[in-house]
Amino acid sequence: MQPRPIRQLDAATIAQIAAGEVIERPVSVVKELVENSLDAGATAIAVDVVDGGRISIAVTDDGAGIARDQLTRAFARHATSKLDAAEDLFAIRTLGFRGEGLASIAAAGAVELTSRTAEAQLGARVEAHGARIGDPVAIAAPPGTKAVVRDLFALTPARREFLKSARAEFSRISAFLSRIALGWPAVSFALRHDGKEVWTLPAVRNAVDRLEMVFGRDARGSLTELPAARDGALTRVTGYVSKPGNDRPTRDGQVFFVNGRLVRSPALSAAWLAGTGSFAMTGRYPYGVVVLEVPPDAVDVNVHPTKIEVRFARGNEVFDAVRLAVATALRATEPVRQVPAVAFSQIPELRSGHYIAGVGHAAQELPELRSGHYVGTANEVRIYGQIDQTFIVAGDAGGLFIIDQHAAHERVAYEAILGHEGQSESGAPLLFPTVVELTDAQATVLHENLDALVHAGVVVEPFGERAFRLRSLPGGYEKRRFDLAGVLDDLGSEDAPREGVAHRNRLLATIACHSVVRAHEPLSLQEQSVLYDRLIACDDPHTCPHGRPTMLRIDAASLAKAFGRA
Ligand code: ADP
Ligand code: MG
Repeated sequence: MQPRPIRQLDAATIAQIAAGEVIERPVSVVKELVENSLDAGATAIAVDVVDGGRISIAVTDDGAGIARDQLTRAFARHATSKLDAAEDLFAIRTLGFRGEGLASIAAAGAVELTSRTAEAQLGARVEAHGARIGDPVAIAAPPGTKAVVRDLFALTPARREFLKSARAEFSRISAFLSRIALGWPAVSFALRHDGKEVWTLPAVRNAVDRLEMVFGRDARGSLTELPAARDGALTRVTGYVSKPGNDRPTRDGQVFFVNGRLVRSPALSAAWLAGTGSFAMTGRYPYGVVVLEVPPDAVDVNVHPTKIEVRFARGNEVFDAVRLAVATALRATEPVRQVPAVAFSQIPELRSGHYIAGVGHAAQELPELRSGHYVGTANEVRIYGQIDQTFIVAGDAGGLFIIDQHAAHERVAYEAILGHEGQSESGAPLLFPTVVELTDAQATVLHENLDALVHAGVVVEPFGERAFRLRSLPGGYEKRRFDLAGVLDDLGSEDAPREGVAHRNRLLATIACHSVVRAHEPLSLQEQSVLYDRLIACDDPHTCPHGRPTMLRIDAASLAKAFGRA
């Protein structure tokens, strides 16, 4: 074969290649523009997307603005106001610094940049597309900057082919924006899609208020604050992690910031995992936000074109700081796992007239429990009631069972759904079908999983624009609720398996999880008793579908030990 001659690429091709690294899909545009707004000191940022960003993306801020005579230069490649000399590369305090954001966006779509500084009487606007950069024209505008990007990838149809549906692209944008908002609680964020407001996050003083807005109303109670950093520590860690038992089925909820930058970092994930240690259940992940402040010269942010990855100069120190902060916070919340071997100085007054419920019968032979204890011969099991409206206490002549009501009910539901799966009569039609409103992201996941859901007995049909009607649910077990939105959120999370047995099992487990009794829910003794009966009739009563234990055993021997009798 004849070697081909080596040629110098032309400027337009070089620009396309470089832009391709930075702008991969609509969310990349949003990221570059929002980071510019944050660097400009904005206190309010609005993102307005049409057709998942394919028709247009607009980002408006109230930041410092760009002077009219600088507007054109903002589009030049490697033109930035954030870096003076190479040595500054190791003292980066801003999110941008490569001077590539606007140039790359203009290479990928048609940009209209309007800006006004606080001092200027009038704003100015520049249009740029590909290599063409227009001249600034004076125009009335509020202080701050607005960038509108239209016809993304019109010049590179191959790239456009790679885009997913408008829903899917929009859900990436929404996910990115709500994540970065977690690290900037003092800035308000608003997101609109196709002219409609999707969500707004007002500025708040406390990070946990923002966390609650993004992670949901339960977040405040289920999160614990990381301990305050030592005075003078070079690496400062703040943030919140979820307490044991409030974990999630995926890692999506683990968010890291380094000096204000939203990053993905295997090193930080590993440190988090090390700190979670024995608190984490198999296949479940605590969620929360870890915010690191490190000296700018101790972190290299210039290792990735989109700056999503960073490298630490003193990696071990950072690792230990994160691990220790997470471990300390979780240890403080640790429930007592063993029978305490101390005498109670105060025993709560015993009330007379305990109710003892109607009763389940233990299976002839309960197989070995997780802790390695055996239950003795079959005998009567009594239900004593709930602790914290979360754990059911039951007992037989040999000792106590403590049952996690949610985990137990999940197991019961999972096996029932599994058993009825695919049978035409598997679903239990609802007399009064409920109507649920779904977000675009949820609706996308619904469409992707429609067949599998029907197979499992969940029948949903469109009912108006964002509304869907739940026609039928899986039969074979007592449902407490059905949280379709929650099911779809879990199924849509980024590291969820997309096909195969893992996907199917997860689908069933997720349906189970969102249809059963929760922690902190009162149950009558009758209900507790029925749940116990159902649980021990399961094929695998000892773990929930996620692998967590459903029950613990405290037998007479361990009680004797705790009381100093053994
Ligand atoms: P970088 O952010 O790496 O500096 P960009 O191409 O994203 O590169 O932006 C170039 C320059 O344009 C910035 O350095 C900044 O001076 C200016 N700029 C861009 N967006 C904004 C904005 N929203 N508000 C104020 N200035 C901006
Ligand atoms: Mg930038």
